[in-house]
Amino acid sequence: MEPLDLQVIGNNLAIKWNDGTEGFLGLEDLRKACPCASCRGETDVMGNTMKGPETEYTTASFQVRQISMVGGYAVQVAWGDNHATGIYSWELLRELSGGD
Ligand SMILES: [Zn+2]
Repeated sequence: MEPLDLQVIGNNLAIKWNDGTEGFLGLEDLRKACPCASCRGETDVMGNTMKGPETEYTTASFQVRQISMVGGYAVQVAWGDNHATGIYSWELLRELSGGD
């Protein structure tokens, strides 16, 4: 499963998948699901949280500046507040947009 097209429409990311389905994903939800270490917090080898998330959101945090493909399996989203360390795999996007 891969997206054929990713487009920001208003406050949503519209994803057209190669099986013909489409998913819509709120940018705010997308940002809050950012999988990078500073948004998720850091965990030790036992999976315990050592450090909580440090992110504080502003309006710009939920605006997409740029979406770039990463290695054919994910996209990197650059947000309006210059946060761009989150790599969203297709699986994650699929999950977030309510697909299976
Ligand atoms: Zn992040």
